[in-house]
Amino acid sequence: MAITVSNISKLYGSQRALDAVSFNINPGEVVGILGPNGAGKSTLMKIITCFIPPTGGNVTVDGFSIHDQSIEVRRRVGYLPENTPLYTEMYVREYLEFVAGMHKLQNIKKRTSEMIEMTGLAREQHKKIGQLSKGFRQRVGIAQAMIHNPDVLILDEPTSGLDPNQLLDIRQLIRTLGKEKTVMLSTHIMQEVEAICSRAIIINQGKIVADDTTASLSSKLTGSNIILVEFSGPVSGEKIKNLKGARKVKLRENNLWEIHADMETDLREDLFKLAVDNKVSILSMNRENASLEQVFQSLTLI
Ligand code: ADP
Ligand code: MG
Repeated sequence: MAITVSNISKLYGSQRALDAVSFNINPGEVVGILGPNGAGKSTLMKIITCFIPPTGGNVTVDGFSIHDQSIEVRRRVGYLPENTPLYTEMYVREYLEFVAGMHKLQNIKKRTSEMIEMTGLAREQHKKIGQLSKGFRQRVGIAQAMIHNPDVLILDEPTSGLDPNQLLDIRQLIRTLGKEKTVMLSTHIMQEVEAICSRAIIINQGKIVADDTTASLSSKLTGSNIILVEFSGPVSGEKIKNLKGARKVKLRENNLWEIHADMETDLREDLFKLAVDNKVSILSMNRENASLEQVFQSLTLI
């Protein structure tokens, strides 16, 4: 089921959380929305799921608009909010039956059993939600998102706060679900997108800064120019950034700088001159192979 996001903007007061965001997601795609905290990921997801209206623009899900066909949209979309507002006093099965009832499903008990089975909650179904570990609560959140069998799943930071084992379990679950459904998940962790998604949309400060397959994003940046240089004493970041070809500069630790430079640029000579001018020496200088993590950083560093 396709999702079309056209020119979506969102203002909170005078703050622009989303700025003319547009993209399409094809049926069956598993897309990662990647961005640092405050980028606008949750806002985007709340708009697509009809929880808040945009200030401008439109979203359609399977051709239905969030503006005047929100019931049709909600029927097709399952949503795991960022901080799943689960009822901690309810039992797992009781809660899922309650959600199934809200969707006016037939065969509530049967459907609840299916969801419990699919999300691996069999042993937890008679526990109170408040007694569950974070990983199992997240499963309950995913189960409630899917109980009405939507074709689209929107998962807001589905693995945040999980321990490494729980993380692998939930990723596996999402991969399995992704075989049958259109999935959009948000995260601020690049590896997450590499592990689960076929495509990444990177947003920063409310704008899309990259939209590509994960494979292509990696290959584009393998040739990227990242230099690590360690000086024997302080050098101003501003001066490094002013070198011709330097785009972004970051202090990694004491006097160890990470420099993102244009592909064609060889900064070595200029760096030596800079060191001499500043009466420091260069202790080490290395070129780093760019990882997707760094692609992300170089696109989202301000
Ligand atoms: P992300 O999910 O990528 O961390 P959000 O969509 O939650 O980002 O937030 C984007 C920006 O909008 C942030 O600067 C945040 O502070 C702001 N924001 C989010 N929700 C509200 C709100 N209800 N009222 C005012 N500002 C908000
Ligand atoms: Mg968020």
